[in-house]
Amino acid sequence: MEIGRLQAKDQEVLNDLLVKVKEQTELFLGYPVSKDFDYQALSDFLKYPMNNLGDPFVTSTYGVGSRNLEKEVVEFFAELFRAPKDNWWGYVTNGGSEGNLYGLYLARELHPKAMVYYSEATHYSVQKNLHLLNMPNIVIRTQENGEIDYEDLENTIRMNRQIPVIIMANIGTTMTEARDDVAKIKNILKRMAIQHYYIHADAALSGTYSALVDPRPAFDFEDGADSIAISGHKFFGSPMPCGVVVAKKSNRDRIARSVAYIGSLDTTITGSRNGHSPLFLWHTIKRLGLAGLKDRAMHSLATASYTETKLKEMGIAAWRNPNAITVNFPTPSPAIFKKWQLAAEHGNSHIICMPNVTKTHIDLFVGDLKSEIILQD
Ligand SMILES: *Cc1c(COP(=O)(O)O)cnc(C)c1O
Repeated sequence: MEIGRLQAKDQEVLNDLLVKVKEQTELFLGYPVSKDFDYQALSDFLKYPMNNLGDPFVTSTYGVGSRNLEKEVVEFFAELFRAPKDNWWGYVTNGGSEGNLYGLYLARELHPKAMVYYSEATHYSVQKNLHLLNMPNIVIRTQENGEIDYEDLENTIRMNRQIPVIIMANIGTTMTEARDDVAKIKNILKRMAIQHYYIHADAALSGTYSALVDPRPAFDFEDGADSIAISGHKFFGSPMPCGVVVAKKSNRDRIARSVAYIGSLDTTITGSRNGHSPLFLWHTIKRLGLAGLKDRAMHSLATASYTETKLKEMGIAAWRNPNAITVNFPTPSPAIFKKWQLAAEHGNSHIICMPNVTKTHIDLFVGDLKSEIILQD
């Protein structure tokens, strides 16, 4: 079969889009997406229909995929998040939202009558997931910095003490990158002698580097989490959205269902699964190693500290949470807001100092703010 070429006008559409994507990628400080990747070495894999159908740990009759590398990726995160040695499992998802959906799904299968508690600052997708799963839930107040209000959590659970508890903890909230303390939450549950509970950590934004900073925040399996989800296109960086979910194998075994058609276990949310995205994560893990990832985290923290200082020097009320790469400040003018693609909520915006963000970007941004102030005077 002859492979057709695009007509000139269609090719032009693509060329124009490419120019626009390049431009938009350059000025972009408001969303947590790393852009400093180069996966050219993997481009030949785009020629093949990679699909990791079914469970990554159970071979499938469909053989064109990256299962073995996917398993290595999951193992890397299981170790990073101190999962119990012989009792972890997971897979590469389409993103943090799917990982959170999976955590909630597992939790519901284990505790079908449970109440779900999560803070006001929780990612917007969680409510939709709870709706999909039809799980009763209660929203808990947040503190000023975006962290869950432990007192409100304790009081609310006390009112429902007879009901099993599912907690959706935020490890880096979307707006202010606040981390809920999983150890503290676990203590609250212990204190009230709650017998049946499950804690899922939404670590989409800060999961990877939370394990690399000092002091290490309480967020992982040893601290009390039963499952953890991260996004792969955020701190790691990936040309397409992806993520990883890690859970306890014993819990996943309770929902596993064997499917003859794929010759594997149907343990994941979707049937067909992206066979390319594990390659990107694997490539970054192998290329950087733990030391390289830690350097990346330190670079981001240094840039965040620089940003906070620069804004404060201008008299802007900038602030950030401990060991956070997100710098918060009042939403600037619409022109700046649009140019730098800043997110905004209730008059607050932020810059997220992802690893690709440098002092040069921050200086340009601060320059824009300064020239506006001069214009106003
Ligand atoms: C980004 C994010 C999500 C959603 O992850 P996706 O990868 O976009 O699906 C969920 N929770 C938090 C805190 C996030 O930052």
